[in-house]
Amino acid sequence: STANKNYDITVIGGGPGGYVAAIKAAQLGFKTAIVEKRGTLGGTCLNVGCIPSKALLNSSHKYEDAVQHFAEYGVYADNVRFDLDQMMKQKESAVKGLTQGIEFLMKKNKVDYYKGWGKFADANTISIDLNEGKTESISSKNTIIATGSEPSPLPGGGLKIDEKRVISSTGALSLNEVPKKLVLIGGGVIGLEMGSVYSRLGSEVIVVEFMDRIMPTFDKEISRTFTNILKKRGFKFMFGTKVLGGDVREDGVTLNMESVNGDKLDPLDADYVLIATGRRPFTEGLGLENIGVTPDRLGMIEVNDHFATVTPNVYAIGDVIRGPMLAHKAEEEGVCVVENLKGLVGHVNYDAIPGVVYTHPEIATVGKTEEELKGEGVKYAVGKFPFSANSRARTNSEPDGLVKVLTEKSTDKLLGVHIIGSNAGELIAEAVVGMEYGASSEDIARTCHAHPTLSEAVKEAMMAAHDKPIHM
Ligand code: FAD
Repeated sequence: STANKNYDITVIGGGPGGYVAAIKAAQLGFKTAIVEKRGTLGGTCLNVGCIPSKALLNSSHKYEDAVQHFAEYGVYADNVRFDLDQMMKQKESAVKGLTQGIEFLMKKNKVDYYKGWGKFADANTISIDLNEGKTESISSKNTIIATGSEPSPLPGGGLKIDEKRVISSTGALSLNEVPKKLVLIGGGVIGLEMGSVYSRLGSEVIVVEFMDRIMPTFDKEISRTFTNILKKRGFKFMFGTKVLGGDVREDGVTLNMESVNGDKLDPLDADYVLIATGRRPFTEGLGLENIGVTPDRLGMIEVNDHFATVTPNVYAIGDVIRGPMLAHKAEEEGVCVVENLKGLVGHVNYDAIPGVVYTHPEIATVGKTEEELKGEGVKYAVGKFPFSANSRARTNSEPDGLVKVLTEKSTDKLLGVHIIGSNAGELIAEAVVGMEYGASSEDIARTCHAHPTLSEAVKEAMMAAHDKPIHM
């Protein structure tokens, strides 16, 4: 093919990995192109992930707060009701504003944005099926694959996502009614966030989970506390349960299930079923076969420490490679791969990538769990502090949850911090900074924290890890 445009770096995929890589590349002086088929930038995260889910979590929380808690503060809002349509509109306007903002950043940084499906003709030639119809070919010294991920189907194939009654997170983000009974298959972050939205709006929510607990990679104590809080809020749980398949009708679904040890269970009716068993890398139609790259068993593209694939000049970042499927992880990798191409020293610290669940209360975690430290035979110390002993949490009537700090026993170095409580997602940042700088619990405990703030609970848990807290 005859390529008519030449780039230093072409990014395929306009999600948080790809668009951040493109901006950084342009900032460092590379002639840069980005190829995105969706029609808007921002990828899964902005269009059907992080952003729309947080919009619905916020509006449903406001409603629940008004109904359940305002009177406690002496605020009376009579006849409180919600309009799902308007909630969806607010979500769409947040998404629209942000995706357009990314498009503006492309122009500002002089990144050429191709709206279309990119595929490798060879390692230095990308053929683009433009959304408007034609095909265009561009050439590039380097290409970064940032094609992200898609919802995984139910293992075994017994139940297909139709986005009507059997929905993925994408369908759950734009339902036109509140389910009476919503069954979540999978007790992971995406399911529990979407389940929280509809539970607050009145759905009966049942979580069917194959493992013996929700959020199985989280610190056990945190996931147990979280389960209890969700139970208080009306969630029901079926652990050690496997969905085999289901009968899908116009008005609902009947699920067939068995226990993990093979016992048949009663069928379960729902009007909507959300399959939230995880996500898998997306590389369809990318022409990987033309450049000698073969995804592994799980569909992931294998890369080395510099994000290089086996094919020279082709790199991959974000959900399509190993590591946690998180927007901020993809962004870090996007900056790192480009800095390395410039001859700078890029940096991603996989030991200090926070993970947040945006339920109420929130859960935020960074570093090792207690179970991991035990498994690795590390001698560790634990410091804990409950929000019920924190003045700001009490003032706000939000006493649920705790901060848990794990340190190396002999050196006091921070190894993991796990928070469940309101605003945990913001509170975790200081723990991440601490870990990035190799802090001890004493370093953070001796740092002055404003009073009265929730962050004092972090400080006190740090005190508890090597000494004693004051307020317990
Ligand atoms: P993606 O964002 O998936 O972007 C890839 C893009 O590439 C897509 O837009 C796709 O259209 C495009 N593409 C693919 N193939 C081609 C091709 N051949 N040509 C052109 N374009 C192509 N993460 C968080 O950190 N925090 C959260 O709160 C959070 N909430 C989430 C909630 C939900 C409901 C979901 C589904 C995900 C959530 N995530 C969250 C995960 C987050 O969205 C992903 O980790 C992140 O989007 C990955 O970024 P990426 O750039 O690797 O890929």
